Amino acid sequence: MTQFIPLAEPDLTGNELEYVTECIRTGWLTGQGRFIAQFEGQFADYVNMKYALAVANGTVAIHLALMAIGIQPGDEVIAPTLSYVASASPILHAYATPVLVDSDAQTWNIDPEAVRRAITPRTKAIIAVHLYGNPCDMAALQQIACEHNLYLIEDAAESHGATIDGQPVGSFGDIACFSFYGNKIVTTGEGGICLTNDDELYERMSLMRGQGMDPNRRYWHPVVGYNYRITNLQAAVGVAQLERMDHFQATRQTIAAQYDALFAGSSVMHQHVLAGFHPVNWLYTVMLDGFNRQQRDHVIEQMKAANIETRPIFHPIHTFPPYVASAHLAESYPVAESLSAMGISLPTFTTLTSSQIERVAQTLLQIVDEVAVNC
Ligand SMILES: *Cc1c(COP(=O)(O)O)cnc(C)c1O
Repeated sequence: MTQFIPLAEPDLTGNELEYVTECIRTGWLTGQGRFIAQFEGQFADYVNMKYALAVANGTVAIHLALMAIGIQPGDEVIAPTLSYVASASPILHAYATPVLVDSDAQTWNIDPEAVRRAITPRTKAIIAVHLYGNPCDMAALQQIACEHNLYLIEDAAESHGATIDGQPVGSFGDIACFSFYGNKIVTTGEGGICLTNDDELYERMSLMRGQGMDPNRRYWHPVVGYNYRITNLQAAVGVAQLERMDHFQATRQTIAAQYDALFAGSSVMHQHVLAGFHPVNWLYTVMLDGFNRQQRDHVIEQMKAANIETRPIFHPIHTFPPYVASAHLAESYPVAESLSAMGISLPTFTTLTSSQIERVAQTLLQIVDEVAVNC
């Protein structure tokens, strides 16, 4: 039997164990432990932002951002339908209306023209997602947000380290949200962070993260807040992860370049990257050109039989029951639906070897050929 290749695997071979051990030895599991502030400071510096607030996960980071900008019931927030569900569920947590829009066929990211068409007098914000680590067209989205006086929130959960003309993603909007889930580019197991340059937004998020407690009056709660805190244990892992950020970035670039070369000239297509954009490959994801959902699922089964774990691209969010009503503004989602039927994510993690990448690509190309011949 060939060796199993998983889709993702955390790389915890730096100082993670040492720092977590320090938390246990000192008894600082939460609150005042040294790693939370250190992690926030270092991550803010990395993305070149003024303030950072580490939170329990990426989903609550987005909810906190929506609360900070004052999203109210009845407000509309625009988000791409082709994303992980957590790009939209916090809009419902805020009792607002997600207005889901289609994607661009080349970059697979939110289509700025679709955003423009979806704007109404009730629109308050846009959530921009850098899907699979490929930055979206932030200049176009900034322009739209500026013209219509909308907040721009970056869901950068899949794009730690990606840049546009040298500027890090997460520094283009009013607030950026990152995730540190176990399979993300930087992980703390579960975890997330909100970044902003705005003093007021920072203070509001800080208040809401810690149960709405008045910073100048202990156990006095002027607003309803949340417990969205992260632990010192998680932040300790995060600090160790950030020390190896350059290695993570370089390795993911090498992996993507090798996949690119192996698929060159085939019907297996990668995301188009705009000029000056530097993606960071979270999950190297491809489109099996011309395949339908059933054929794609068959490919996933065959890969599994070859002991290689892969994953279908996300289902468009507008197809989930709680979001069906949110589809009302767009006529249809042809791009998201076709991408979602053809897409497949391949193993992408820093300890993946060059011979494993070759095995993944060759196995995929062979299976794709067989499926194409049989139809
Ligand atoms: C992972 C992810 C999130 C947040 O996920 P958590 O698991 O809550 O940390 C949000 N948006 C996108 C696009 C993601 O991939």
